[in-house]
Amino acid sequence: MVKSINQLFDLKGKVPFLGLTGGIGSGKSSVANFLAKQGAVVIDTDQIAHQITAPNGPAIEAILKEFGPDYLNGDGSLNRPKMRQQVFTDPNSKQILEAITHPLIRQETIDRAQQAIHKQAPYIIFVVPLLLESGAWIEHLDHIAVIDCPDELRIQRVMERSQLDRASILQIMASQASRDERLAIANTILTNEGDLSALEAQASLLHQKMLDL
Ligand code: ADP
Repeated sequence: MVKSINQLFDLKGKVPFLGLTGGIGSGKSSVANFLAKQGAVVIDTDQIAHQITAPNGPAIEAILKEFGPDYLNGDGSLNRPKMRQQVFTDPNSKQILEAITHPLIRQETIDRAQQAIHKQAPYIIFVVPLLLESGAWIEHLDHIAVIDCPDELRIQRVMERSQLDRASILQIMASQASRDERLAIANTILTNEGDLSALEAQASLLHQKMLDL
């Protein structure tokens, strides 16, 4: 079994790796879904984070042990709003939670990437909201695409799609990399301030770039 990111990179052969990042509500899932339809393999670390904290997920037992039953919902899944408040106010809790979740997310990401390499995917997209914060990955990616979207539009779109209120969204935004930090690492910038077809037109060009690598 491949255990480390470096081992994975040794294996990847000719399969290009694309990092796709952007703040909350910028349009990462929209672009990733579109590119998946074109044949790319998408590995979404946020989705993996949800999966490991679903009922009976592999992170649940350790979360119960460290934080207690108050942090779980009735169905045994992670109570995300409660945990979000806890880690925003207490750095130590953040560290404990990440010590549980990060290794599980990393291993699941590696396993999925390994399968995609095995199947000779045209390229693999790693959707990582906190790409900048996950240092080791960046240097191994063949291309980094950043989705840029005005803050107010992101807030509106996230409020429409989820239960999050404005204050929670602002809190999450403040914990993420800044716009300038993100743009500084981009090979391609997708601007998402029009309709979905305008975003998809840019994603098509990115797709072509990835196939040409
Ligand atoms: P992220 O994955 O970066 O958090 P999403 O792709 O989920 O962002 O987009 C946030 C919300 O905004 C979703 O409900 C999505 O359908 C919607 N959305 C994204 N881009 C557009 C757009 N250009 N026009 C209209 N709605 C959009």
